Amino acid sequence: MQLYKSQRLQVYNSLTGKKEDFEPLNEGYIGMYVCGPTVYSNVHLGNCRTFMSFDMIFRYLRHLGYKVRYVRNITDAGHLENDAEEGEDKIAKKARLEQIEPMEVVQRYTVDFHEILDKFNFLPPSIEPTATGHIIEQIEIIKDILEKGLAYEVNGSVYFDVNKFNQENHYGKLSGRKLEDMISNTRELTAQGEKRNPQDFALWKRAEPQHIMRWPSPWGDGFPGWHLECTAMSTKYLGETFDIHGGGMDLKFPHHECEIAQAEAHFGCPPVRYWLHANMLTLNGKKMAKSTGNNILPNEIFSGENKIFSKAFSPAVVRFFMMQAHYTSILDLSNDALEASEKGYKRLMDSFETLKKLEVSDNTDFDIGRWKQSCYDAMNDDFNSPVLIAQLFEAVKHINQIREGKEKIGKADLELLIETMHAFVFDVLGLENKQEGIGDSALLAGVVDVLIGLRNDARSNKDFATSDKIRDQLLDLGIQLKDGKDGTSFIIS
Ligand SMILES: [Zn+2]
Repeated sequence: MQLYKSQRLQVYNSLTGKKEDFEPLNEGYIGMYVCGPTVYSNVHLGNCRTFMSFDMIFRYLRHLGYKVRYVRNITDAGHLENDAEEGEDKIAKKARLEQIEPMEVVQRYTVDFHEILDKFNFLPPSIEPTATGHIIEQIEIIKDILEKGLAYEVNGSVYFDVNKFNQENHYGKLSGRKLEDMISNTRELTAQGEKRNPQDFALWKRAEPQHIMRWPSPWGDGFPGWHLECTAMSTKYLGETFDIHGGGMDLKFPHHECEIAQAEAHFGCPPVRYWLHANMLTLNGKKMAKSTGNNILPNEIFSGENKIFSKAFSPAVVRFFMMQAHYTSILDLSNDALEASEKGYKRLMDSFETLKKLEVSDNTDFDIGRWKQSCYDAMNDDFNSPVLIAQLFEAVKHINQIREGKEKIGKADLELLIETMHAFVFDVLGLENKQEGIGDSALLAGVVDVLIGLRNDARSNKDFATSDKIRDQLLDLGIQLKDGKDGTSFIIS
């Protein structure tokens, strides 16, 4: 039986403002779309947090036994400056400033994005489509919305008619805004340009002669509006209605609101069943922004080359830090917080070493089955990773008690404890056992154990030259072997 059948997962749905039982459209299968990065600069740490939240969600859904198709796009055209309707394309601007091809900009920052996500141990999405690879699909959707009378063309640009759409539908259902309020708030603005209404948004923009990123269309050369690509790519791979749409809280309005309007206009049905939004990351209590200097890149944290933190922190520690907050809460990054996370991470990883050495008894002093379910209960409660981590430390406390002989554990329970710890720490939270300075300590311990075995073989064959050589060469590497009555152990200096 798949795990999801015995677990009751609830998610906070931004669309209804409620925590709801999660039921996928097709039993056992989940379609999930997450708005990906606009690849015109190095990936922002705040964006990493958003993508990490959905990586953890993806991992947990897979752990429950669902077959998940996870689509996360790359925005390589159409995203204008300040997320606005007017202005330069972010990628085209970077290309102009650096005098390189727009696709060079896209390539450079897509590679950077993947490198950083690899360091953070992300699982790759099932499909990673690009906006420029789906121009035809976007044009088809625009043609249909125009035919339905819910968009209009002006001078080679096409705008979505929000007012008209709102007559029969509800524009603002996700963000909780009312169109009348939005209109009265913007009435004083005079320069509306080509739009009938300031709330209308571009489905297609005419390319001015100097605009390098351009595609032919029934309305002349141009490029698609930013909101449209997500509608085209999500529904192409996941269907007209799919299970989960995720993204940063900042995308809720207008981006996701516009996605809903476009999809409902085109398909006549709501595109998404559960909208999930991840909250932002602040730095020393303030919003992160390049313009104020209150900003740091992931690589600057990993290398320690920055003026904000006292030392370098590994990607695993930063990941652990991010997992210690619920994905819908604001999380503040600071030196103290990272140092505390580093200690916590080390304590958690050390427990895996201790687990290997525990001696088993006939009975167990703590209820492993109940503890295991409490780990699931945490994750079933809208992916509550901080509560899960508290449960993992509850286990660490018992592991240390058992090591000190103050508690007992039976053989089967020890196996269940090891299996559950592995599943939640490595598979679900996506942490890696990489302790700073000594590389992957689990791997290293395994290798040293092999060498200890070879040395024991040599000693029993009275081949003391080989056994001494193994001992001395390990010592040169800072690994000291200690022979005791229970066998050989080692310490790393
Ligand atoms: Zn999007």
